[in-house]
Amino acid sequence: MSGLRRSVISRVDQAIEAQAEEAFSTLSRLVAAPSLLGSEAADQEIVAEELARLDFQVERVPIPADIRRDPAAGVFQGPYTSHYDVIGRRVPTQGRSLLINGHIDVVPAGEPQPWTTDPFRPDRRNGWLYGRGAGDMKGGFAMTFLAISALREAYPRGLEGPLFVVSAVEEECTGNGTLAAVREGYLADAAVLAEPTGLSVLLGGVGILWVEIGVLGRPGHAASARSVNPLDAAITVINGLRRFEETMNSGERAPILANVSRPYNVNIGTINGGDWASSVPSVVRLGVRVGFPRSWSAQMAEERVTDAVLDAAQGDPWLREHPPAVRSTGFRAEGHVLDASTSIGVGDASSTCPGSRLAPHDAGLGQHDGRPLLPQRGGLSSALLRPHGTPHPWNRRGGGTGEHRRRRSYACTLHRGLVRNTNVARRERAA
Ligand SMILES: [Zn+2]
Repeated sequence: MSGLRRSVISRVDQAIEAQAEEAFSTLSRLVAAPSLLGSEAADQEIVAEELARLDFQVERVPIPADIRRDPAAGVFQGPYTSHYDVIGRRVPTQGRSLLINGHIDVVPAGEPQPWTTDPFRPDRRNGWLYGRGAGDMKGGFAMTFLAISALREAYPRGLEGPLFVVSAVEEECTGNGTLAAVREGYLADAAVLAEPTGLSVLLGGVGILWVEIGVLGRPGHAASARSVNPLDAAITVINGLRRFEETMNSGERAPILANVSRPYNVNIGTINGGDWASSVPSVVRLGVRVGFPRSWSAQMAEERVTDAVLDAAQGDPWLREHPPAVRSTGFRAEGHVLDASTSIGVGDASSTCPGSRLAPHDAGLGQHDGRPLLPQRGGLSSALLRPHGTPHPWNRRGGGTGEHRRRRSYACTLHRGLVRNTNVARRERAA
């Protein structure tokens, strides 16, 4: 490493240290605003404020209703009145560009009982900040702002190329937020997703489909011999889904998933039905998330889930006469994988950035903190890098040019921001 480079890195490191407290307080503000589906506006305005502070031009992009006709879209969840992406644009010169993508939406916090503190009241203790979305992924935004702010202070030349920050909605249910940004033309030569991966470089993901399965019963009084309880029938359907899951996981598998024990998970996430303890419900609805192989289209996945449900129904006299209805309700995201030998910016960063602990091949591909990977087409990275079949920008290797080096330092700095923050947290724990 050259002396100049070492001195730049050390100046940026010092700026990161000096601004770390500010990043914690930005994170606290973000966590305190519950950005559940459809109510992200308060958080998006905090993001807009931060971007403006860092000299970005800020744009608010709603998810258009006609996105439902886009083959890469999930099932439209709107219309919404205050539901939009926030996008920051900083284009001082032309040249190779970088886009940092994150999602501002969080999933519901669930029952209060397992939480030690209110999930939407950020609580900082032992060097950690607790709260819904602190990790996934408002911490990513705080680190993005920290990295940019430190560069702005300590090495403004590092911000000479075009830089975009996308704060997307609907990452947790459809992927339509990022897709809306892509349709507005927000694409770049390189993209970094600030998801919590433990600094693993994730190159791909399985497909994700959401379906609702409606199981009919024959309502009546609990004592009536004529009544048929749909919840009992739903158990037959669930058993069929388990067999379907088993078949997917025992089938032939892409070599890249060879070390992943169960890449394809079928999760019964919600069960709704009934309104009175003494009444037999008329219907039960299951909300199901299906992880499916990369070789399937979303349409194929939907057809196969439907077949599995109807097959299970054949074994039950009531269900045979009253087949369950399957409809897709959110994600219709195909799996994807980027060639591990591709020169990607984050991979470059991992080799040039002390503390970032991996090469792309070491990433637990197919796993994300023990769960299947989240990024999918229409949701995350491949949509940013390679929309609608255009050539992959990284096939045009730009190694050695000034632009390439600059891009490399962006990504490297982002990683360093994450790493440094971890160190801050460690020291606090020790104190
Ligand atoms: Zn996430």
